Amino acid sequence: MKAIYLDNNATTRVDPAVVDAMLPFFTEHFGNASSAHSFGAEVGTAVKAARQQLQQLLGAAHDHEIIYTSGGTESDNAAILSALEALPDRNEIVTSKVEHPAILSLCEHLEKTGRAKVHFIGVDKVGQLDIDAYRAALSDKVAVVSLMWANNETGTIFPVEGLAELAKEHGALFHTDAVQAAGKTPISLKDSAIDMLSLSGHKLHGPKGIGALYVKKGARFKPLIRGGHQERARRGGTENVPAIIGLGKAAELALQHMAEEQGRVRELRDRLEKAVLQRVPNCIVNGDRHDRLPNTSNIAFEYVESEAILLHLNRSGVAASSGSACTSGSMEPSHVLKAMEIPEAALHGAVRFSFSRDNVAEDVDRVVEALPGVVEKLREMSPFWADAEKKTNDSKPVFA
Ligand SMILES: *Cc1c(COP(=O)(O)O)cnc(C)c1O
Repeated sequence: MKAIYLDNNATTRVDPAVVDAMLPFFTEHFGNASSAHSFGAEVGTAVKAARQQLQQLLGAAHDHEIIYTSGGTESDNAAILSALEALPDRNEIVTSKVEHPAILSLCEHLEKTGRAKVHFIGVDKVGQLDIDAYRAALSDKVAVVSLMWANNETGTIFPVEGLAELAKEHGALFHTDAVQAAGKTPISLKDSAIDMLSLSGHKLHGPKGIGALYVKKGARFKPLIRGGHQERARRGGTENVPAIIGLGKAAELALQHMAEEQGRVRELRDRLEKAVLQRVPNCIVNGDRHDRLPNTSNIAFEYVESEAILLHLNRSGVAASSGSACTSGSMEPSHVLKAMEIPEAALHGAVRFSFSRDNVAEDVDRVVEALPGVVEKLREMSPFWADAEKKTNDSKPVFA
C-alpha cells in the first residue's frame, strides 16, 4: 500500500528536476563562486541565474535584493537582529502570537535579555490579526514589524502589504516570514512597502538547509553572519552552490506551476474538508475560509487527542501532522490554536493536512476512508465524549 504524504507544510519532496539541476554542481562545476578563474566564473554565473529565478518568484525589482541563507530560520533571525542594529534608537518589535518559533523564540529571548520590548499581537477566531491592537502598538520606537504572510498551521493569510504600509507610516522596517506563502500564492514585492521577506527551499520542493532573505534596495541591513564578502558582504561564508542552484530551480518550477496548482490543490483540500465534515460529527475547520493557503487544512476533532489520530492514520498509511510540537509525551496544545481561542474540547484534537503538487485525488479518498473510523473508535474510549454525546444528544457537525 502506497504511503500518502499530507504533511507538506513540514517539508516537501525535492522535485527530481531540482536534483538534476543540482548534481553537476557537486562534481563538474565545483568551483568557488568567488574565485577569479574560470572554475569560479561559471559557478558565479549559475548562482546569479538562481538569484534571478528567486527575483521572478518574488516579483522583486533587482536580483541583488536576494541574499542566500541556510533556511527560513536564519532568514527570520537575520531580519529581526539586523533591524535592531540598523535602527539603534528604536528598541521595540511588533509581531504576532501565531508566528513560527523561528520568530517567536527569538523575540522571547530578546525580551528576556532586555534587548527589546516586544508586542505580541493577538488574533481572532479565524486567526486574523487584531488590527486595532496592531495600530496601537505602532510608534516611532518600533524598529521592526515581523508578521507572517501565511500561517504554517492553519494557512491563514495576513494582509501583509497593507500591514507594511501602516508600519512604514511610523518609520519601522517591515519583515514578513513568507516561508509558507512563497511558491503557493502570488507575491509581488516591487511596489510593496515590505522591506524584508524570508523563504525556505525545502517548503517548495527544493533542498533543506537553503533559504533566502529578500532585502529591499535602500532598506538598512546589518549582517548576521560576518566573514568574506559573499552576498555583497551581507552574509559571509562560501556559497552552498548546489543548494542555491536547487533553490533557484525550485523557485522556477513553483512559479511555472502556481496558477494551475493553486486551483487543483484547493479542490483536493476542499473535497477532503467537505467529506470529513459530512462524515465526522463535532469537528471544526480552523483558519480563515476566505484568506487561506489553498493547500492547508486544519481540522480539530472534539474529544480526541490529535496524537492518537495521527498514530492510527499513520498505520493506515496516511502521514499528517498536529502542526504543533510534542515534547516528551506531554502534549502542549498549539500556540496558534490557543491564540485563536478555539473551544477547549477541540484544542487537543487538531490535525493538519497539507497538500502539494505531488498529491492526487486518491490521496483524499484514502483519508476519507480511514478517518471517520479512527475518530469514532477513539471517541468510544473517551469518557468526555460519552458525556458530550449525552448533553447534546444530536451530534451535528460544528462548522467554524
Ligand atoms: C518551516 C518554517 C520556517 C523555518 O524554515 P527552515 O528552513 O526549516 O529553517 C519558518 N517559518 C515558517 C512559517 C515555516 O513554516
